[in-house]
Amino acid sequence: MPDKSIEEISVVGAGPVGCVLATLLAQRGFDVVVYEKRADMRLREAGGGRSINLVLTDRGLQALDRLGIRQKVLDLTVPVRGRMMHSVDGQLAYQPYGKDESECNYSVSRDMLNEFLLDAAAEAGVEIHFQHELVDADFDARHLDFRVPDAEQPVRIDADIVIGCDGAPSALRQRLVEENHVTEDVEFMDWGYKELLFPTADDGSYRMEKNALHIWPRGDHFLMGLANLDGSFTGTIYLPRSGSNSFSSLADPESVRDFFETHYPDAIPVLGDFIDEFITHPTGTLGTVRAAPWHIKGRVLLVGDAAHGIVPFFGQALNCGFEDCAVFDDLLEENLPFDQLFERFYEDRKPNTDAIADMALENAVEMGEKVANPDFLKKKKVESIIEQSLGTIYRSRYATVMYSQIPYRVAFEIGEQQKQLLTELSTDLDNPDDVDLDRARRLIEESLTPLYDKYGVDLDF
Ligand SMILES: Cc1cc2nc3c(=O)[nH]c(=O)nc-3n(C[C@H](O)[C@H](O)[C@H](O)COP(=O)(O)OP(=O)(O)OC[C@H]3O[C@@H](n4cnc5c(N)ncnc54)[C@H](O)[C@@H]3O)c2cc1C
Repeated sequence: MPDKSIEEISVVGAGPVGCVLATLLAQRGFDVVVYEKRADMRLREAGGGRSINLVLTDRGLQALDRLGIRQKVLDLTVPVRGRMMHSVDGQLAYQPYGKDESECNYSVSRDMLNEFLLDAAAEAGVEIHFQHELVDADFDARHLDFRVPDAEQPVRIDADIVIGCDGAPSALRQRLVEENHVTEDVEFMDWGYKELLFPTADDGSYRMEKNALHIWPRGDHFLMGLANLDGSFTGTIYLPRSGSNSFSSLADPESVRDFFETHYPDAIPVLGDFIDEFITHPTGTLGTVRAAPWHIKGRVLLVGDAAHGIVPFFGQALNCGFEDCAVFDDLLEENLPFDQLFERFYEDRKPNTDAIADMALENAVEMGEKVANPDFLKKKKVESIIEQSLGTIYRSRYATVMYSQIPYRVAFEIGEQQKQLLTELSTDLDNPDDVDLDRARRLIEESLTPLYDKYGVDLDF
């Protein structure tokens, strides 16, 4: 039952996390009002603008279960069952993600997902005000100021309880920092990113295997592609922002063409007008945001990217934001006063979001460089053999993060131990197929099983 002394909860930001959180609150009987900077994306003309696509995994989907919309969201996705690596000379190498086909990721357009979630929120009775950009907040007087079109002065709104879901640059977090309620550390990567389209074939089909994440690893830069429902793939190129072979050095059509012909020759026939797109599409920035704490006693709380911006290399940032919503919902179930609820939420989530932020940074190196490194590939193969043969006592960090709800911090700690174990088993091994499984079992039982026991981890996920 909602706390009846709370008249209304204000949510800033109608991105995916804001929509899911608002809908969960509405389902529990709260009056929820969402303020969103942008115009209603559902009203724009069809085909107006493409969006990044992202992968949903188990943690994100289980939050959607609470709203009864898992299957409807899955209908908007393309399953992704493994990685397809493209070498410079056009060789393909495929690595399945999970122990079987049931363990897969789901590629979805972020805008399509967001539009669906806006509908779900509206259906649950959430009031949404578009074109309301938060520009100021007074946490003592408990009001928020929003810039709205055609008004000279910001509109002031009383807000008892405010939840900030306004994304990584979060205006609400900035105000909390200015007022010394929160400290933040924002670490930008040297890499930026740009979207490029792999168009649908003339007959409407996919021009590459649709159920794979395509990746062209080239060390300090890489290209990847994820399928959309319409036969196209959204490509993303990650490159340094400055220096040679960077977004700043590749500024004219000739240098872009040379760069692609040198590094991505087999992508050119399946890309569209990549030179024009490279020159005209905006370059996105990538960063990790660590803030502490995420709340002011029972009055203001940050959730999703607003609390913890994470680089996209583990495909988890939104999944982590949806998991925030599920944890928040569990705490609502306990019917706690909001000051305790916010405190408990922060204490639970902070170590986990720090862990996934670190693992995502580590994966940046894996995706750009290691996936083409023979030693890394050998260890991956050894790990896959162990997982297939000894799956009841060993699951990889990747599978634990993507296909279970074991806390991120536990996956991180166990993963560190797994790295040592794989190094021990792979050293002096010429052929991964020759890995000594008896020794592997012994090492797992000595070093990993005690950790699984300590954290009560169930590997049957
Ligand atoms: C290239 C790339 C690839 C990614 N791939 C994946 C992936 O595969 N898997 C995954 O899980 N995640 C992925 N992510 C991350 C994912 O997109 C984000 O984690 C997710 O969008 C965060 O959701 P959010 O609702 O917290 O914030 P956002 O999506 O940023 O939404 C914030 C909302 O708040 C609104 N807003 C902003 N400022 C204000 C203001 N002042 N007033 C009012 N409203 C405001 C914005 O307009 C927006 O609607 C990727 C990100 C990038 C950049």
